[in-house]
Amino acid sequence: MFEAVLTERQRSLRDEVRGFVSAVPRQLILDMDADKVQYPRDFVREAGRRNLLGLRFPPEYGGRGLRWEDEIVAIEEVGVLGTSLACAYVMPSIVGEALNAFGTAGQKERWLRPLVTGEKIAAEALTEPRGGSDFFGTTTEARREQDHYVLRGQKRFIVGAAKSDFFLVYARTDSHGPPHQSISAFIVERGPGVEAEYLYGLLGTRGGGTGRLVLRDARVPAENLVGAENGASEIFYRMMIPERMTSAAGAIGMGRAALEVATRYSDRRKAFGEKIRRFQGVSFKVADSATLLDAARGLVYGAARSVDANDDPSRSRRLVSEAKKFATDAAWQVINHSMQVMGGIGYTNVYPIERLLRDARLIMIWTGTNEVMDSIIQHEYYREILAPRPQTRDTEADAEEAERVEEKVYE
Ligand SMILES: Cc1cc2nc3c(=O)[nH]c(=O)nc-3n(C[C@H](O)[C@H](O)[C@H](O)COP(=O)(O)OP(=O)(O)OC[C@H]3O[C@@H](n4cnc5c(N)ncnc54)[C@H](O)[C@@H]3O)c2cc1C
Repeated sequence: MFEAVLTERQRSLRDEVRGFVSAVPRQLILDMDADKVQYPRDFVREAGRRNLLGLRFPPEYGGRGLRWEDEIVAIEEVGVLGTSLACAYVMPSIVGEALNAFGTAGQKERWLRPLVTGEKIAAEALTEPRGGSDFFGTTTEARREQDHYVLRGQKRFIVGAAKSDFFLVYARTDSHGPPHQSISAFIVERGPGVEAEYLYGLLGTRGGGTGRLVLRDARVPAENLVGAENGASEIFYRMMIPERMTSAAGAIGMGRAALEVATRYSDRRKAFGEKIRRFQGVSFKVADSATLLDAARGLVYGAARSVDANDDPSRSRRLVSEAKKFATDAAWQVINHSMQVMGGIGYTNVYPIERLLRDARLIMIWTGTNEVMDSIIQHEYYREILAPRPQTRDTEADAEEAERVEEKVYE
């Protein structure tokens, strides 16, 4: 934890969230991992009762009017519970972003407020069976008929498919236009024609009712359109911030949880008459892991500051993508190191490392795979470096034979 970087308000928020996290029943974690629960509704309700959901949103809609820099501190704390509960915790922050940034006052009143108070559960339905990375290939269709739209299609891997009260659904509203100008976003309430038809057997991240959502001529009132018709690309790009910032911050908490268990273990467990922490093979894994988590934290805090400051959107997009990629990769490595430090017992369910490891495998895949993050990072970095940059030193000229242009052959 970056004590010196945190403000008084952030420290007090962190302690408040720690109080909430400590009170979560262990049995809930176990029951979710055993798929005995389809959604941790009481957990979300309790977070809402404590005013800990959607912290960035305005107080008039149940939030606290905080910033990303604050919210990531809270999310890291919830992350120690694993991906299932952290995902349920951040879902109001994700779906709420679309409503807060693009919704009408009526939509905010009707959906944002109950989401942030924990009375209603929502899900984001973006991925389709035909693919998640290629968002603009969306095939789910919405056809306008007088005062409503008729939605038809399927969404895959939707956390909360089984139990959510409503869904943020992206659908094609123009079958002929260019992809970036053909998709719209809707709030789709559970009802006729809106069904979770299959729940997935997952390696980890269980208990969230992750399923295939089928829209079979679902009638959605026209007032449920979020933003402009055919205008969802703007929403999609904006949503990449909460999706990725929450994944990144939660990952740090997960890595931290595993590392703390393994570090304590290595201070007690003996081999060859010595505490195993005396072996560099063990303690250097702890050192690497602590460094990785702090580096991830630095990147996540930097990305949060960039977003909060309304920095150049390209730079924010790159930093958010770097934060998501680095923090999730780091968490995976840290949990893997933690398991190695603990030897065989780390692979059993006597310790929670194996559950965290199963959970952590997902975070490199969801909210945009880490390869998609690479694709965004390189794109934005090239854009930045190749743009004219006044007042920067031409370091290429700092070579003894720099003027030998005949040797600078590019083709
Ligand atoms: C448990 C779970 C929960 C999820 N929750 C949700 C949810 O609540 N809502 C939701 O909408 N989605 C959710 N997802 C979906 C998740 O975001 C997608 O699985 C992810 O974006 C990848 O999409 P895909 O599975 O279709 O893989 P694909 O898009 O088919 O990708 C397959 C492979 O190709 C690579 N690839 C694809 N395109 C590129 C490219 N341009 N450059 C480099 N590599 C590329 C990918 O990195 C990947 O390795 C969830 C997934 C899981 C497993």
